[in-house]
Amino acid sequence: MSRIRTEEEKQAARRMTREKQKEDWLQQQEEKRSGHERYMKEAVKQAKKAAALGEVPIGCVIVQEGKIIGRGYNRRNTDKSTLAHAEIAAIRRASRAVGDWRLEDCALYVTLEPCQMCAGAIVQARIPEVFIGCMNPKAGCAGSVYNLLEEPAFNHQAQVFRGLLEEECSQLMKGFFKDLRLRTGRERQETAKTEGRRETAKTEGRQETES
Ligand SMILES: [Zn+2]
Repeated sequence: MSRIRTEEEKQAARRMTREKQKEDWLQQQEEKRSGHERYMKEAVKQAKKAAALGEVPIGCVIVQEGKIIGRGYNRRNTDKSTLAHAEIAAIRRASRAVGDWRLEDCALYVTLEPCQMCAGAIVQARIPEVFIGCMNPKAGCAGSVYNLLEEPAFNHQAQVFRGLLEEECSQLMKGFFKDLRLRTGRERQETAKTEGRRETAKTEGRQETES
């Protein structure tokens, strides 16, 4: 006869089942990697639209039954809105497409690990599968700073696949910030030069009046 299990034992068993499910799911997605990469490439296309506006290049697509039903890219500066993140835009469009705030049979592809706001929105929209390009160690909320997507205390958890087209997504970010550094460096030099010219003009002007 089996003895009655303690609450800790039950919790440990539940945790192990969850871990096993996670592993199995990851294994299944690994086998379908090339299909997932195709959607991530679409998210990268979105990210490039952000870059073209001088925005941090982050892009997102939402897929339902093999069809992209929502696209979005970062427009935070352009729209002057905290809410203008790629994932929020894609969720808004996908919800409009299906006519429901619940996106229960959808998968979300995003080039950079979601922030706390977007991870929250993903949980709220009950999106079951999330594919991430590269991680964001300083602000990501899918395992870096926090893990809102897989928090067992919430009523919904997403399955998370990390590192899909990682190199491409991370190069996109690195390239953007390198350009930005070059740009601001050049601007600083320009300002220094103009100020230098102004200074010289002033001194020369003074000398002229003095003489
Ligand atoms: Zn976000």
